[in-house]
Amino acid sequence: MAEHTRFGPAGVPPMFKLWGAEMPDVPRLLREEGLDAFEYPAVRWGQKPQIKQENAEKLGAAAKENDVRLSLHGSYFINLSGKKEVVEASKRRLIACATAADWMGAYVLVFHTGFRGRFEKDFAFKTCLDAIKEVSAQMKSLGLQAKLGPETMGRKFQVGSLDEILTICEQVEGTQLVIDWAHLHAIHLGTFKTTADFRAVAAKIEQRLGTEALRTMHCHFSKIEFAAQGEKRHHILDEERYGPDFRMLAEVIADFQMHPTIIC
Ligand SMILES: [Zn+2]
Repeated sequence: MAEHTRFGPAGVPPMFKLWGAEMPDVPRLLREEGLDAFEYPAVRWGQKPQIKQENAEKLGAAAKENDVRLSLHGSYFINLSGKKEVVEASKRRLIACATAADWMGAYVLVFHTGFRGRFEKDFAFKTCLDAIKEVSAQMKSLGLQAKLGPETMGRKFQVGSLDEILTICEQVEGTQLVIDWAHLHAIHLGTFKTTADFRAVAAKIEQRLGTEALRTMHCHFSKIEFAAQGEKRHHILDEERYGPDFRMLAEVIADFQMHPTIIC
């Protein structure tokens, strides 16, 4: 089957919870809604997987049966740009997430790279890049298959500008490009006003990482509210007063013959 753009939610939709759905029911329920991707939230995890291997495998089998592509969103308690002990603990959290990602067959482990804190910008980024290289090497030696997916971030004090994410993808083996369009919109204080603004980002990605990486990107998309420091809060797609507009991105996806996985 030809690859196609996939859509799905981050976390279990509240309605499914009201229906009393268990995690292994989620792929079938998504399929019934015409959706074919699911981002498993491991966002509060510590240094050990917080799902039993057996349950992760059940979710994975149900996802396969219903042709739902799984990704896993790693712990929010990760900071690869901090002090040494913080970075070491963050690396263990990433390995825990990568382990569970493999149990369920998630293709990418999405994560937030870190905060600059009191560190100077270049130093914070270098610390983060080195840590990701170490995690990638450790995953390889453990035989872990999921790709590492550092995400573009929305706040000025975070590591994860588009350029930084592209550099990580260029320099680290086993990475997957993850673009959060709302975060890009917020950090540049409303950059996506026309289709051409989306096209410029797509062209830049293609130039840096190549056509295949562009076409197969993993995306987050929502509306977003921002202030001087960037991201304030995410909003639902129905809220007309906030950007960006998905229809513009959809045009660019068609123009560049992309088939991303889009998590909303
Ligand atoms: Zn995220």
